[in-house]
Amino acid sequence: MRITKRKKSPPPVENPIPAPTRNAIRRRLLNWYDKNKRDLPWRKRESSVYAQWVAEIMLQQTRVDTVLNYYEPFLKRFPTIASLAKAQESTVMKTWEGLGYYRRARNLHRAAKLLTENKQAVPTTVEALQQLPGIGEYTASAIASIACGEVAAAIDGNVARVISRLFAIDKDVRASAGAASVRHFARDLVSPSRPGDFNQAWMDLGSKICTPQAPSCPNCPLINQCQAFEEDRADQLPVLPKKESPKPVNLIAALFVRGEKVLMIRDMKGGWWSGLWSFPSIEKKTGHSTRRTIDDLAARYEIAIDAIPKRQATVRHQLTHRTLSFDIRVCRPTQYVTRSGDGNDAETIERKWVTGKQVEKLPVSTAHRKIWASAMRNMAQEKLVKEKRRKSLNSVSLLKERA
Ligand code: SF4
Repeated sequence: MRITKRKKSPPPVENPIPAPTRNAIRRRLLNWYDKNKRDLPWRKRESSVYAQWVAEIMLQQTRVDTVLNYYEPFLKRFPTIASLAKAQESTVMKTWEGLGYYRRARNLHRAAKLLTENKQAVPTTVEALQQLPGIGEYTASAIASIACGEVAAAIDGNVARVISRLFAIDKDVRASAGAASVRHFARDLVSPSRPGDFNQAWMDLGSKICTPQAPSCPNCPLINQCQAFEEDRADQLPVLPKKESPKPVNLIAALFVRGEKVLMIRDMKGGWWSGLWSFPSIEKKTGHSTRRTIDDLAARYEIAIDAIPKRQATVRHQLTHRTLSFDIRVCRPTQYVTRSGDGNDAETIERKWVTGKQVEKLPVSTAHRKIWASAMRNMAQEKLVKEKRRKSLNSVSLLKERA
């Protein structure tokens, strides 16, 4: 249920923006929002605090277009916090599969379980929301302002960009001084009567008009209040730290195959795909041979292999700060164990031998789905080539017999 009761307003900020400017920005931004707001499922009147929470978690570091494919199916599968708390973690992860940043799903599930165990409803204040796993200041402010009417400024990258241009902030908005300036203006500006709409209006303006490149200033409702526009330097703001290019990482991914089954592992101790099923993989260190790298990987799962198979394919996958390149090898073990866990990591690494059909049903990251699809394609091709070769050998023998 959406909470309508207004929370107490925060104390006034020091050095406030002159009232005529502040009022003009609020009025113009909200008028623009009323006419131009995006029609998004989590903006429906009947959305609950829980539904808003799910939306805000999905939207962390993820584009709206991507979230649209996941939001309603997730709520259909887990319509209430109780249904989410009751679900198996693997079911939650499967529903989240492809959305990335899987720690979010695990935290959401953990928080739902915590609240249910303690017979608590979803908190409705910024302060209480921040006590839950996976909820930081931005997410708590967005949920509390949008779903509960708390007068709190939710400052994400979009909001920081617009505010830095509006007030021509010349400091790095991700460093403490620049971030403090942005926070100061955002807190002073947030509308006491419509805080949730006001926060969403910033977000929409940032994604539709005041975009990172080539902002559409002639269409902006705040053009008369914008200092960067007046000084003709909108394209120079915000000041951001120098972007580091993603680091390349070379890995070997092994499909250990015995009969119809392949080995999959699930690492629960963190990392890129914590909580999801993956194929065993290992970083290929500089100076280490392929043989040594594969032997190290096989030893980790108590597997012995004789011959090192040839590379079957290379799969690339982009993470925010890493460019991964997987060299795929299909290995046929000569010795293996079938029990779960292993000597060193029994509590953090699960493993199981599964059929192809089971691979499809497990929650698997996009990177490892690509590895699986590529391996399947190559194996099918190899089978076809072998089949052709066998047929052509048969015809040659037949011709020889007839001759
Ligand atoms: S006038 Fe231009 S730079 Fe200023 S807030 Fe609007 S879109 Fe952004």
